[in-house]
Amino acid sequence: MKPKVICHVNTCTHFLPGDLCGAANIDILHEEESKMSNTAEQTECKTFYHRQGITDYLGSMDNVNWGGIANTILTAGSKEVYPSVTCIVDSCNFWSLGNLCHADAIEVTGQSAKECQDTNCHTFVHK
Ligand code: SF4
Ligand code: SF4
Repeated sequence: MKPKVICHVNTCTHFLPGDLCGAANIDILHEEESKMSNTAEQTECKTFYHRQGITDYLGSMDNVNWGGIANTILTAGSKEVYPSVTCIVDSCNFWSLGNLCHADAIEVTGQSAKECQDTNCHTFVHK
């Protein structure tokens, strides 16, 4: 079971109205590679891609959940677009072997983010 992804990062090319993420997969990492995350602020969504113009959309198009997006358009009103989550933040209570997240849902925060470091997995809970 993959967690539902609720995202507030409105400056990302993958962001969809309704606080959804249209990426096929997202990678949640420690903000500092060599440092274990102790708080949500020390995590980041590495898949963030700053939206500035049409070329940015083209640059991130190899990681798009087209099936989920089509499904949502066909069943208007339902929230069915969720990426798979690969997470290496093994200091989190929801982390499990295989870089999986077993939370029911995760919330990615960082409104107006300009770079990955401005985003966080708000659902992080220290073990
Ligand atoms: S910041 Fe991450 S979770 Fe949010 S829309 Fe971008 S890729 Fe998806
Ligand atoms: S809740 Fe924890 S395990 Fe799940 S994606 Fe966020 S940091 Fe990773």
